[in-house]
Amino acid sequence: MKQKSRSEWEHMIPNLKISHQAIIDGRPVDSASGETFDCISPIDGKKLASVARCGAEDVERAVAAARKAFESGVWANMPPVGRKKVLQRFAMIIADHGEELALLETLDMGKPIGDSLAVDVAATVRCFDWNAEAIDKVYGEIAPTGQTELGLITREPLGVIGAIVPWNFPMLMAAWKLAPALATGNSVVLKPSEKSPLTAIRLAELALEAGLPPGVFNVLPGFGKEAGEPIATHMDVDGLVFTGSTPVGKHLLSIAALSNMKRTFVECGGKSPNIVFADAPDLETAANAAASAIFFNQGEVCTAASRLLVHKSIKDDFVDEVVKAAGTMQPMHPLEPDAAMGAMVDDIQTERVMGYVKRGTKEGATLRCGGHRAKVEENGYYIEPTVFDQVTNKMKIAREEIFGPVLSCISFSDEDEAVRIANDTPYGLAAAVWTSDLSRAHRVARKIRAGSVWVNYYDGGDMTAPFGGFKQSGTGRDKSLHALEKYTEMKATWINLGS
Ligand code: NAD
Repeated sequence: MKQKSRSEWEHMIPNLKISHQAIIDGRPVDSASGETFDCISPIDGKKLASVARCGAEDVERAVAAARKAFESGVWANMPPVGRKKVLQRFAMIIADHGEELALLETLDMGKPIGDSLAVDVAATVRCFDWNAEAIDKVYGEIAPTGQTELGLITREPLGVIGAIVPWNFPMLMAAWKLAPALATGNSVVLKPSEKSPLTAIRLAELALEAGLPPGVFNVLPGFGKEAGEPIATHMDVDGLVFTGSTPVGKHLLSIAALSNMKRTFVECGGKSPNIVFADAPDLETAANAAASAIFFNQGEVCTAASRLLVHKSIKDDFVDEVVKAAGTMQPMHPLEPDAAMGAMVDDIQTERVMGYVKRGTKEGATLRCGGHRAKVEENGYYIEPTVFDQVTNKMKIAREEIFGPVLSCISFSDEDEAVRIANDTPYGLAAAVWTSDLSRAHRVARKIRAGSVWVNYYDGGDMTAPFGGFKQSGTGRDKSLHALEKYTEMKATWINLGS
């Protein structure tokens, strides 16, 4: 298909359907209080919509609808092949609405339209399709007992799932929770981030078109304390799945446990090391990949390769190459089809990132490029790709998740030191190692305490492998058949075969 130009995308905006209400029991509704919040585009600071500001009363309504749908069995007891057909239809409808959803995503959170289409929409479609396709192929087990009894091991849906998701991949992070939750027969109450609520609402409308029964998938836009906490503490929510920051993840684990001990899984932050040895197969490729791995999605990626660890023998030349690559990734208007970087999600995140830039300089790191806001005349939130050299792993810019386009370069002198620095972090989400030495690749991959390790590339993977973190990057896994475990209880049924 021919790529649309910026003006073609802009022509679509006046006719774009911007749904702004909550979706409860299959119907669009205002919040119980009637309150709304402004949804602002980070591209130009203009208001996109007044969105329903949900609170505890709305959570009550949505959980009741989800419970009613679950207990009726209309979805939970549908044969897996039936749920599969509905979810496959849902995936097709999302694909048919791909341009509309991509445009909504870009206007709402600022990412380049090319990425919204090729990454967010495509991966969302794939996620629903993959889970739909999987669900009539997972079998129970039979325990290896003696002749006088039969032990059946089966999995059953948890019931009502609360899902709380972030703003960096709004639709895709929702899909990673929704698809396995729905495939296994649960009902869901989803709270998108207040910074990017639009595609989640639209997804719920499209799910109804696909034939998902009312009440099975509810959406409550709103703020964390107002709409998120009542979901996390609700006594009739059976499972809580969260993607977001580590501090909020920890808080939710504690309040969810103190309520009804609901099954809770949190996917949180990262400070991922990208380790380049002098024998990397192609240093130019590695340098370009190091730049993309931090600047993709404006650095607002949980797996962003924010710490670049380079062997001291090649460090200076390698960092020069990364700086050169950064120069080609300057932020552009996100509707430009060839934009590599777009706008930051909002003013708060922009200020936060700029605070880290100041701190990096103050701590003695060398600013090699960037470090400023860009395109300020457009009233949007843009930051230049920023590279700090001479960073030590003790500096705040190397320890804390910045969640913006800021790279910290650190040198190491041997393999042991590389592994030590890589693991010297509270996080453990992802890592990469670049080397031509097969044994070293395996050795280092084994020693890194992270949920995903890539060799000679960055950020690979698809629906077939689990994704999640070690240490304070989270609990549980999204994607693959392992994700289904989070949404089901395991049951052992014993049958006496004695006469
Ligand atoms: P955040 O923790 O601020 O918010 C995430 C969600 O939680 C939002 O919907 C927010 O409204 C809600 N929330 C906030 N406070 C809450 C509270 N007290 N009670 C209930 N809900 C609350 O995170 P963010 O800024 O939206 O997202 C960025 C973070 O997400 C980064 O740390 C990033 O690494 C992480 N992330 C992790 C993954 C992963 O798979 N591990 C993927 C994407 C993003």
